[in-house]
Amino acid sequence: MLLIGSHVGYNSKDQVLYSLNEALSYGASTFMFYTGAPQNTRRSPIDKSKVAEAISLMESKGLDYSKVVVHAPYIINLASPDMDKRSFAISFLKQELVRCSDLKISNIVLHPGSHTGAGVEEGLNNIISGLNEVLTDEVGPTILLETMAGKGTELGVNIDQIKEIISNINNKARIGICLDTCHLNDAGYDVSNFDAILDEIDSKIGLSYVKCIHINDSKNAISSHKDRHANIGFGTIGFDNLINIIYNERLKDIPKILETPYVDREYPPYKYEIDMIKNKKFDPNVIEKIKNN
Ligand code: FE
Ligand code: FE
Ligand code: ZN
Repeated sequence: MLLIGSHVGYNSKDQVLYSLNEALSYGASTFMFYTGAPQNTRRSPIDKSKVAEAISLMESKGLDYSKVVVHAPYIINLASPDMDKRSFAISFLKQELVRCSDLKISNIVLHPGSHTGAGVEEGLNNIISGLNEVLTDEVGPTILLETMAGKGTELGVNIDQIKEIISNINNKARIGICLDTCHLNDAGYDVSNFDAILDEIDSKIGLSYVKCIHINDSKNAISSHKDRHANIGFGTIGFDNLINIIYNERLKDIPKILETPYVDREYPPYKYEIDMIKNKKFDPNVIEKIKNN
């Protein structure tokens, strides 16, 4: 089955059940959610009965809960040269892993961090020591390092940096990779030849580390380092290239997650984008349809 979904909302009352129901309304077979607002670190306790309900609802539809992913809030920065910020990131991430365990979530996506002027080497070292401090338990959720666009002083902007981090992680069973098509494009990778990217990851790190992929078109040209997502088929990557990535046999078992923008900041595009992806057919009038829904 095609593992396609989007990022969805979360609320403190129905929690992951709320997220699941939003995903199902889009015709998704999987989804990604934040355990609170993506911009802040306010979090409410996990209600395990909602988790059980979500799992059985998915099972009843033949869907696999173990493929659902969480995204850590993007304000936590393991690479920060500021010790206070770094220790906050570490302690928040530890709590977030406990929340993922309570949610029975296996994979959590993390932006590696930004060095904010301290330099690539120091930034990467901070990420490595932070992750090693967080990943002390033998078993638990896996942290997926997202490949970044290279905006500002972001790290994890190429396969060599991801390799540098992963090769220094003590607990390799709990570290992985989340690709992002917009970020790869903006970082300078030619996503129209995705097999070449997968080959490079496989030879340098191992393809089995890739456990999620974010599917976004890009508003900007290759190597722009901008990180502005576009709706599927309306950016510089284009519909056909994205379809080839989504249906690449080597990525068959990993969840594909849309993080495309709401149309006019108001209308979620995911039901329509998922439809086009399932039909492998681009609808040039889709934006109008999303607005008139
Ligand atoms: Fe992300
Ligand atoms: Fe992403
Ligand atoms: Zn992005």
